[in-house]
Amino acid sequence: DRAGGAVDRVCVYDEATFASADNNLALMTEMIDALGRNEISLHYQPKMQTADGQVTSVEALCRWHHPIRGFVPPDLFIPIAEQTGQIRALTEWSILRAIQDQIRLRASGHDVTIALNISGRLLADDAFKDKVIQFASAVDADLCLEITETAVIDNPDKARSAIAAFRAVGLKISIDDYGSGLSSLAYLKLLNADELKIDRSLVTELADSQRDRLIMKSTIDLAHSLGMSVVAEGVETEAIVACLSLLGCDVIQGYWLSRPLPLVALATFLDEHAATSLDTPLRQAS
Ligand code: C2E
Ligand code: MG
Ligand code: MG
Ligand code: MG
Repeated sequence: DRAGGAVDRVCVYDEATFASADNNLALMTEMIDALGRNEISLHYQPKMQTADGQVTSVEALCRWHHPIRGFVPPDLFIPIAEQTGQIRALTEWSILRAIQDQIRLRASGHDVTIALNISGRLLADDAFKDKVIQFASAVDADLCLEITETAVIDNPDKARSAIAAFRAVGLKISIDDYGSGLSSLAYLKLLNADELKIDRSLVTELADSQRDRLIMKSTIDLAHSLGMSVVAEGVETEAIVACLSLLGCDVIQGYWLSRPLPLVALATFLDEHAATSLDTPLRQAS
């Protein structure tokens, strides 16, 4: 495990109690002020190319440090933000923060694409679309939008035109968590994307399961034939890295490489990684 730095999963509450309706209601109201009180931050998880070991992009992941509750995981507050409509403010904030952080990273010599998670249902929101296009064209940002969740299919026409508008201003598009839902192929049919990000559930048992390797192989080939690059998420072991390289996966991401890191720790990671990756090529020429 080459992960270093922040351990960001310190939970001091009981998950079952937390999920109760009362708590969700409380969280809902507390989220309204969370952005203004600076309780939300972004951590960044590196992605590495298998061909040359280079880290050319990182994924921004939201963190909520609640003054009393402690760390609230995104799996808990993102669905609430989606239900209450706060996801739009949160996502716009994330994009602006990522743009600022990218400028800081460039100043310290690191040129990486920043990927942001975008809830599918936001694609149907015209005001959101216009805002993002305005942000992206105002600055020389290098961003990728990872489209998550299934609501996108509910409004295929809007989703398609939003995606086309984003790509027209130079934003890259990734289909996130591919293979985790039931409608994965429908996504592929609908969305013209640059990247296919394969869900952790198809990655975890790769080294032990011939069946999973066959599914992975045909998914990678399918993505390549549609002109997309392939990212595997949740890569935790060297054995899985080896499998993915053999199967032709372009990019890997997971605890094996690094956990999500705060900005300063990310810059340090990128420095150290650049120094070590030069003499350890991952994929043998075949
Ligand atoms: P995701 O986009 O699929 O992000 C990957 C999640 O898996 C992250 O959890 C990450 O910390 C975790 N992870 C990464 N590598 C490994 C690994 O090797 N093993 C294991 N077991 N886990 C790994 P996180 O940060 O808790 O985020 C959970 C989900 O919350 C994300 O899934 C994403 O769907 C959502 N999310 C996070 N931030 C945002 C945001 O700003 N906006 C939206 N719309 N969704 C977000
Ligand atoms: Mg993601
Ligand atoms: Mg994902
Ligand atoms: Mg996932």
